[in-house]
Amino acid sequence: MLALQGAFIEHEEMLSKLGVESFEIRQKNDLLRSFDGLIIPGGESTVQGKLLKELGLLEPIRQLILEGLPTFGTCAGLLLLSKRIENDARSYLATMDITAVRNAYGRQLGSFYTEASLGTIDKIPMTFIRAPYIKEVSDSVEILATVDGKIIAARQGNQLVTAFHPELNDDFTVHRYFIDICGGE
Ligand code: GLN
Repeated sequence: MLALQGAFIEHEEMLSKLGVESFEIRQKNDLLRSFDGLIIPGGESTVQGKLLKELGLLEPIRQLILEGLPTFGTCAGLLLLSKRIENDARSYLATMDITAVRNAYGRQLGSFYTEASLGTIDKIPMTFIRAPYIKEVSDSVEILATVDGKIIAARQGNQLVTAFHPELNDDFTVHRYFIDICGGE
């Protein structure tokens, strides 16, 4: 669990309910432990991105992802993994071949709840908080979910992203999906 800022505790609780062990990554030494997957939580992409750089975590984590480490980015995590952010000149880990739009739902619709299907799985709850959406994907990216014609969940190899916060609802679909990418429980 990347635990620099944002909603990481909620993800940890979901994992523990699923019987999956996790630990927090806060500094470079934490990367020396062995782990099967990484979750990058929602929060503020700019703050997490800045801390990743300052703590010397950005490049090592980037390398691990490029080497195939299963990685799940939620909301701000999606932005950190995006190669391009349409309305922000910054990019961070930039390992996933998608173009995201930041704070894409404007102020009025900054936060909302809906239900939609994810891949072949029927309707799951989705909570959006000042969320991004994905505007463009390369051919190697699988689109997993759309809401109102906008891509809000996708996968490329071992990387999974959702614009919504699955850790804020009592539904384990997305976490189970990610645990499968990590090689099961
Ligand atoms: N708006 C935030 C950002 O730009 C993301 C919001 C979230 O993670 N809930 O990083």
